[in-house]
Amino acid sequence: MNNRSIKLLISIFMVIALLIVTASFYTRYTSGQDDSPDQTAGQTQQNSSVQGQNKDDDGQVIMSKPHDSENGEDSQETEHTEPTTALHQVQLPVSMYDPPPEMPDIGTGLKRWPEVLSIPVVRKPDLDVYRNVTGENPLEGITIILDPGHGGQDGGAQYPIGVASPDYVEKEIVLEVSLLIRDYLEEMGATVHMLREEDIWLSIYARIALTSQYLLDDFMSLLPYHGYKPDALAHIRPQLEEMIEINSDFASSGGRGPMLGIGTNEDMRLLMDVLAQYPDVLFISVHCNALEDLSVGGLQVFYQTGEHAYQQEHSSVMYQDPDNNPPAYSMYPDEDRLRLAQLVRDHILEKIPELKFRGESDLLEANFALLREMNMTSILLEMGFITNERDRGIIMSRQGQEKIARGVADAVYAYYTS
Ligand SMILES: [Zn+2]
Repeated sequence: MNNRSIKLLISIFMVIALLIVTASFYTRYTSGQDDSPDQTAGQTQQNSSVQGQNKDDDGQVIMSKPHDSENGEDSQETEHTEPTTALHQVQLPVSMYDPPPEMPDIGTGLKRWPEVLSIPVVRKPDLDVYRNVTGENPLEGITIILDPGHGGQDGGAQYPIGVASPDYVEKEIVLEVSLLIRDYLEEMGATVHMLREEDIWLSIYARIALTSQYLLDDFMSLLPYHGYKPDALAHIRPQLEEMIEINSDFASSGGRGPMLGIGTNEDMRLLMDVLAQYPDVLFISVHCNALEDLSVGGLQVFYQTGEHAYQQEHSSVMYQDPDNNPPAYSMYPDEDRLRLAQLVRDHILEKIPELKFRGESDLLEANFALLREMNMTSILLEMGFITNERDRGIIMSRQGQEKIARGVADAVYAYYTS
């Protein structure tokens, strides 16, 4: 062996030694994170006591890096570490049947998924930083997905009812108001994602897929930073893409993707467990109503609880073998949904008392796919009745639209800060 060979050997040894030191350093760093694979299930939203901001510098929680999602204290040293090589990543652990689904009470009908997450908690935004927040951009880091109802060939509610070219069409009013809500929320520093900004038609399931895709993409982009390969979720994205492309609510069209049928299949449960980790994102669908009885007026807010969703689906398969359908999802944020619904109602009525619903109830549980097929804090607002003269005067006037939009934005503000 000559001198050159010895030098070469020494260099190789040094490179290997350096690699080993780097690898062991990184292993230590990742095992010190509090999102290690053994921390699963049931600890998502309420358990966000970690210090530090969950906001990004530019206010975008979407596409955020791990340092702003939960590890405030570590951010100094980890900010520039991007451990993205396969060497450091393990498969995302999925525990789909451990524990197993719960059988229905009467022995037939719909099973329920257990009240635990099937995947680890990766995102735990600290919502405490918003309590009593003051100063500019109080909602920085919060995202609101706004869904102006209808569009394109689907005008929605109209007045007069039953005519080919009505004077007033829901799709136009709800877009106007939604754009105002967006402006007001952005003024408070929130990120607003509009499902439509022009007169286009989207199926209900395309709206669900667009929202789910937006959050799934964010979640999958975070996984490598937490030492996980995103493979276990990768097959869900093309299903969402297909739903958007088919853009049809008909069951036979394929446009319902994994949401087709009764219950929540495995892919849907995975997706629901991803969405469960976004308590800093709200979904608000904006509509107005119509009724033959022109005297009915006032605003209504629709929301859905897990028990309501279960009873609705269970009742349609009550006498079937429980193995006929996948179990129902059971981790909807019931209290958060009700609270958001109440706040939106109260803040709009505070500005426009005339919109007080003149009927039995202005807060209603509804089995809407938009609410049932996405596990997030969501509501559907019916601003008023386009067929009622008094409501129409309000929702058609610029001043009325501004007050409604301000009411929604104030409700979102109150939701996070009080
Ligand atoms: Zn509508």
